[in-house]
Amino acid sequence: MDRKKIYLSSPTMHGDEQKYVQEAFDTNWIAPLGPNVNAFEQEMEAYTGCGHAAALSSGTAAIHLSLKLLGIGQGDLVFVSDFTFSATCNPIVYENATPVFIDSEPDTWNMSPEALERAFVKYPHPRAVICVHLYGTPAKLDEIMAICQAHDVPLIEDAAESLGSTYKGRHTGTYGKYGIYSFNGNKIITTSGGGMLVSQDGEATKRATFLATQARDPARHYQHSQIGYNYRMSNVTAGIGRGQLLHLEEHKARKKEIYAQYREAFADIPEIAMNPLNPEGDANCWLSCMTIAEESGITPDMVMDALEEVNAETRPIWKPMHLQPVFAANDFIPHNGDGSSVGADIFARGLCLPSDIKNTPEDMELIIGVVRKCFGR
Ligand SMILES: *Cc1c(COP(=O)(O)O)cnc(C)c1O
Repeated sequence: MDRKKIYLSSPTMHGDEQKYVQEAFDTNWIAPLGPNVNAFEQEMEAYTGCGHAAALSSGTAAIHLSLKLLGIGQGDLVFVSDFTFSATCNPIVYENATPVFIDSEPDTWNMSPEALERAFVKYPHPRAVICVHLYGTPAKLDEIMAICQAHDVPLIEDAAESLGSTYKGRHTGTYGKYGIYSFNGNKIITTSGGGMLVSQDGEATKRATFLATQARDPARHYQHSQIGYNYRMSNVTAGIGRGQLLHLEEHKARKKEIYAQYREAFADIPEIAMNPLNPEGDANCWLSCMTIAEESGITPDMVMDALEEVNAETRPIWKPMHLQPVFAANDFIPHNGDGSSVGADIFARGLCLPSDIKNTPEDMELIIGVVRKCFGR
């Protein structure tokens, strides 16, 4: 096939990244610390209003350290979004704690406050709640935070996909006790790989940095009173992040355009619904997704196959965690009274459309034409 590939969401570099990376080379700061790391943290603090930030090697590491900071371990329960990528919940298991999966609601596809309430009835004493802002759409944070506050349980926001999204005018990731961001290759901005732990609590992020650099006590000799990790971000990758951050708003604007274009192009096809946005927020529209009405007889696979024919990359919707073999023994709290799962329904009927900000008008026209054709338009 010689048709050019249209990507789901690939890195977009601008040149500024190279300038900061060059600086790291020129000054020989090729290490998991250095001026780019400090500056990237400060620039993210200024951009998100998160208070304090610790730059780490991945978003997964940031979730792991947030659990360490809360002292979560063997025998503890953690309520976590069911409809997400496995990186959200794997760190719970690293600490020998137990995830309880909370279903999504249909309005934003994120953690259902109703299911969360019911989880607290069944398990009154979880140690934390981890809530995701899937595909960049903010969750119902007011309702979720009210429940967490009523039960005095800390909230961790997995904002890996929602950097740049706001809820009621404030950035996602800045509402919980801890927030995490990811700079993996396909996220809205990337450092190739990396993440950040943020909190209004500066002592906590300082402790995260300490744990992320092998938990070395302040002594001249190498002394350790705790188990540490090698989780710090490198000064080279932080340089990429600094350059990317300059273009985050631009990326967001372009992602929003793509989403709006799809929505408009499929508006006359009642069998197609775009992923919902939260009216209380401003989503970064990281990935544009669609669901297909069951009665249509069209399956996500049919649409994905048709797009593959023109070399356009798609992706299934995240498969809910309660359907994953590795979590078969874990409890799941559904949103619906009849026990059916909102996340499983979206998974069965949905797909992610090519959402690359480098998509040209011709690419978009091609994708839209292929999808419309699947529905006989
Ligand atoms: C990407 C992602 C992560 C993990 O981030 P990494 O930087 O890849 O470790 C966590 N949660 C969600 C929802 C993600 O999409």
